[in-house]
Amino acid sequence: MTTTSHTTQPAAGISHDAVRAALSKVDDPEIHKPITELGMVKDVAIAADGTVAVAIWLTVAGCPMRDTITNRVRAAVTEVPGVRQVQVELDVMSDEQRTELRKSLRGGSAEPTIPFAEPGSLTRVYCVASGKGGVGKSSVTVNLAASMAAKGLSVGVLDADIYGHSVPRMFGASGRPTKVDDMIMPPQAHGVKIISIGMFTQGNVPVTWRGPMLHRALQQFLADVFWGDLDVLLLDLPPGTGDVAISCAQLIPNAEILLVTTPQQAAAEVAERAGSIALQTHQRLVGVVENMSWLQMPDGTRMEIFGAGGGQAVSDSLSTSLGASVPLLGQIPLDPALREAGDDGTPLVLSAPGTAAAKALSGVAQRLTTRTRGLAGMSLNISPVRR
Ligand code: ADP
Repeated sequence: MTTTSHTTQPAAGISHDAVRAALSKVDDPEIHKPITELGMVKDVAIAADGTVAVAIWLTVAGCPMRDTITNRVRAAVTEVPGVRQVQVELDVMSDEQRTELRKSLRGGSAEPTIPFAEPGSLTRVYCVASGKGGVGKSSVTVNLAASMAAKGLSVGVLDADIYGHSVPRMFGASGRPTKVDDMIMPPQAHGVKIISIGMFTQGNVPVTWRGPMLHRALQQFLADVFWGDLDVLLLDLPPGTGDVAISCAQLIPNAEILLVTTPQQAAAEVAERAGSIALQTHQRLVGVVENMSWLQMPDGTRMEIFGAGGGQAVSDSLSTSLGASVPLLGQIPLDPALREAGDDGTPLVLSAPGTAAAKALSGVAQRLTTRTRGLAGMSLNISPVRR
């Protein structure tokens, strides 16, 4: 795909290898891989006066990243010793080129598969669930993701909350995903790749899809979105025990469930019901996060606005019914700054990391990324040796 016109004599003392080496440092802004690896360099021509003309294949016509790519190419080639001027010309890949690219991004497979469901997948997948809406499930998801990404992990968030789909706003991610054929490039914000069901609906219209359509959409988000190599994928599920939770269990059986509740007993009871779905789907419950636990008063006392003990009660009860430890991973205090940060599009763990709520959220993120995964239910990828 890449055609590079080689001159025998380096013009103006500039070698093709030097230009290519510079181009290999330019990443496609959406795929996050070098443009040289993606077959996006169409041609390099070096003139005697030190002008280097680079022709680039864009993946799609009207690519929203065309200016970014042009600037990156220009900046990189300008650095090559001897270059006096850089011209960047843009062309668009043919259908065949796009198919090739898609295939190579999928590791040689022409058919979309869910990478996280493959036996050797190293991505930890957490489905963030709650019994009812408004307990802060999306806020927790967004802050966990931002905290993990800030630690250098590669993180994705799939917002599958058909009722809320508030994740893009909380991340300040207004971009729409670009499509390369049937492959979807997720927008990125604060170092996190984000796909939301809200990016595929018109305006603020609620999603009225039924089970099979939701299942298909979820499958597409998992298989057709180019997530790259993720350390962690967080799924923001709709509240309750609905179709999406069951689809998740079917599509990514090794995904683990993280439950969010408030301290209120009534909320805890419905959270417990949502958690007990794991019994039926044979998924693992990684733990419980209690949100809105208390409000810190100026005199240092805690006002327990929604009561107390809900998170621990859910943890105890599910540990008993599942016969496995379902720990209470953290208690997040109420903090108006958390809501404001969400409204402003910068998660609290980034905008005010020193606050008690941010520290509690980062603590949960830390526990989720550093815990060792047990081997139960995991493929060891070994085969018996015949004697
Ligand atoms: P869910 O995803 O469970 O529906 P959200 O994350 O959308 O809940 O949170 C509901 C509302 O409560 C949002 O306005 C959010 O900013 C706010 N909120 C969530 N957690 C807290 C908290 N610990 N302190 C203050 N406000 C919070």
